[in-house]
Amino acid sequence: MDSKRRGPIGIELVKRGILTQADIDKALEYQRRNPNKKIIEIISILNLCDQYILLQVLGEILNEKSIMLTYGDVKIDVKKYISLDMAKKYLAIPFEINGDKIKVCFADTTNTAATEAIRLVLLNKGLIMEKYITFERNIRAILNSLEGTDSENIDTGEDATTLVDSIIKAAMRKRASDIHIEPLEDSIRVRYRIDGELVKATEIKKEKQPQIIGRLKAISNMFQEKQDSQDGRIIMYPDYNIRVSSQRNIYGEKFVLRLLKKNMNIRGLAELGFPQNDEQIRKNLNKRNSITIIAAPTGEGKTTTLYSIIDYLNNPSINITTIEDPVEIRIPGLNQIEISEKLRFSDSLRTVLRQDPDIVLVGEIRDKETAEIAMQAGQTGHYVLSTIHTIDSIEVITRLRKMGVSDYDISSTLATSISQRLVRRICPKCATKREFTNQEKELIQNLLRKYNIKINLDDKFTYTANGCKECNNTGYYDRIGVFEILTLTDEIKELITKGASSLEIRKLAIEQGFVPLTVDAINKVINGETTLDEINKKLVIY
Ligand SMILES: [Zn+2]
Repeated sequence: MDSKRRGPIGIELVKRGILTQADIDKALEYQRRNPNKKIIEIISILNLCDQYILLQVLGEILNEKSIMLTYGDVKIDVKKYISLDMAKKYLAIPFEINGDKIKVCFADTTNTAATEAIRLVLLNKGLIMEKYITFERNIRAILNSLEGTDSENIDTGEDATTLVDSIIKAAMRKRASDIHIEPLEDSIRVRYRIDGELVKATEIKKEKQPQIIGRLKAISNMFQEKQDSQDGRIIMYPDYNIRVSSQRNIYGEKFVLRLLKKNMNIRGLAELGFPQNDEQIRKNLNKRNSITIIAAPTGEGKTTTLYSIIDYLNNPSINITTIEDPVEIRIPGLNQIEISEKLRFSDSLRTVLRQDPDIVLVGEIRDKETAEIAMQAGQTGHYVLSTIHTIDSIEVITRLRKMGVSDYDISSTLATSISQRLVRRICPKCATKREFTNQEKELIQNLLRKYNIKINLDDKFTYTANGCKECNNTGYYDRIGVFEILTLTDEIKELITKGASSLEIRKLAIEQGFVPLTVDAINKVINGETTLDEINKKLVIY
């Protein structure tokens, strides 16, 4: 957006009741520190309102069609229509074709140099451009995925059996958790999810589609003729369980293969990124008559942390029982129970408590009933570990309250509440060391100042993620947890009993040395484990 547009968009958003003037001031303040960023991007980055509404209003103001473009919306081979250099230069992605009409998404439709250049290139190909607008970061994310092309490890020979096998084996070598095999307009795209991000692996000629689909269905034990969604399993790789699902789209059946490694190594707490020197925290793990809850959104590594804690506590003299949905890793010496539609968490937990366990792991607290039994178990001599789906460690208290657990039960039983996010580790093979820029220093200091923490950044370094063969050109390799751990001190318990708000609890916790997620994340940047860009994706610090 050019500067002329800044006013109207802000005013329009306030007028429509989507943002307050205070929000706009916050965005403008941010823009003073980051003069290159457009106001709309800043509103989006700071998450000041619903992203979809923001985009819709932007479209209305500019009189353009808007779309929250993601990689999955790109139905065509971008490079066939415009070069990647051009896409990068003009921040534009052609994404769908219909007869002689081609949809192109721009980060800035008011940049007529960009829209005209692309319109002409497409017109030369006999195509009429239909403009769309989205956020710049959506375009950049897609450009990154398009660039990650690396097909050297995949055998693109004639035979579908060899081809499918090499796609799966290459995915295993590259530590992928999922394989996406997607028919496009005139090719089949193969992508891997590695460290949480989709990376393009290869593209296969469209002619091979029937054989590849036939082979995938055969080894997954699916019906060959059926074209509707199916679920299957591949059992021919001894070290992996592979769950397969198919879904028909307009270009054919798309397959997603989820790779679950058997006998996965359990990582030590330190390896996960858990604070190492905090005695109090370790003491609270395995405190009888208490409960520890891990809180995070799905896919942020809650289960891995639970297993690591269990592994840390496991010894032959104690009885550990887990109730899980499903059992993801089998650990020797544990009683692991899998819940089903008939057997719920609360029912299993009741039975388990009669089996004299020392430690009980309850996969997830989803309802009042499970919460109450877990609390009771924690009050009657057991140590209970569980998870709750919420954003941070202090919100655990709010969530339990909302489920109907009394302030008394929370304060007398909850000992530790942990929250976490996974961020990618910088690739040690290709990272280059550099000093923090002044802007980065300012950003970090501003953040730390909120928590009364001072760090001298002048002798500290950070790394640039470059990308190499080892890391599939992403610049990152593997992931690390960012943690915040709330230990419920007597003073915090007293606040809870008095019905204090999470804001008041947070304030006191920080006074008592609680390290919030953002601060742990910043520490991990300063220690050279990850980058500001990476943590910003999960924790919005810019
Ligand atoms: Zn690398």
